[in-house]
Amino acid sequence: MKKENECEIVQDLLLNYTDGLLNNASKEFVENHLKDCSICKEKLKNIENDEKNITKQEREIDYLKKIRLKSRIKSIIGAIIIIILIFLGYYFSKFFVINSISEKASKAFESENFYVEKISSLAFGEDGVLYDKTWYKDGKFKNISYIETQENGITQTFDTEYGETDKKEQYLINDNEKKATKVLYPFTYKKSDFASIPNPIFLSTQKYYMFFRLGTPFHVKISTDHREIGRKYYVLKLGDSTLWVDIDTGLPIMSFGYSSNTRYYKDTKIPLEKSETICQYIYQFNTVKDDDVALPDLSEYKIENTDFTKDIK
Ligand SMILES: [Zn+2]
Repeated sequence: MKKENECEIVQDLLLNYTDGLLNNASKEFVENHLKDCSICKEKLKNIENDEKNITKQEREIDYLKKIRLKSRIKSIIGAIIIIILIFLGYYFSKFFVINSISEKASKAFESENFYVEKISSLAFGEDGVLYDKTWYKDGKFKNISYIETQENGITQTFDTEYGETDKKEQYLINDNEKKATKVLYPFTYKKSDFASIPNPIFLSTQKYYMFFRLGTPFHVKISTDHREIGRKYYVLKLGDSTLWVDIDTGLPIMSFGYSSNTRYYKDTKIPLEKSETICQYIYQFNTVKDDDVALPDLSEYKIENTDFTKDIK
């Protein structure tokens, strides 16, 4: 074989040689030729250099890809952490407001001397309001309620209620008819049962109920306002209901909502009129006197007994 022909054959084989694809005989032939041929050796060097450069470039590209992937993962994690932090900040800012309202309200009613007045609108915007007044002092309470209209003054009074905490009996007294009913309940009354205390966060006002307030931030909207009463108050919204809460005392000032009373078009479920209920709350602490809650002299009254304990067995 001529030397020149050999060079062509070897150069044809060089790529496969560097890739290690030749059989032993061909490999030996190439290696023998390379020993004496500087031209082919040079070609081999060039091929090897090219391959090195290619793998180097590939590695660099791989490296850049990895870095890009890492930084993308980092920014996704960062974004998730920021979203979680914003959510936690939002959640806890609401939770702390709700919690402080609730704590303040329950603290206010730890008092052993208070007066609460609840004034409610009548159904379907009828003329008049319902007054519901409660006096409480050292375990004794009195509650009176009546309807007052703008035109006719007091139009309806309900029995005056007298009772004591931790006792099962209560007196319902009708002064006009000189009639008293002694009612025996199957349970004892607690302070929170008889005072017309609205629930400031649509949940229990009692202390240690923090657990039940954990979910409240998810469904209660909180904002502040200062119209109407000249000082700042919280506005709590839950569905159709709105509650204004005094910032200092945690006590509700006004509540707005819809009662389940709805007037429908005859024989349909199409609402004709929904009944909005608006309530105003007034509080006084340490103004109640013993006389305000003392059971009156019933010697002139006809007394009836009602026993609710018999119904429950
Ligand atoms: Zn050669």
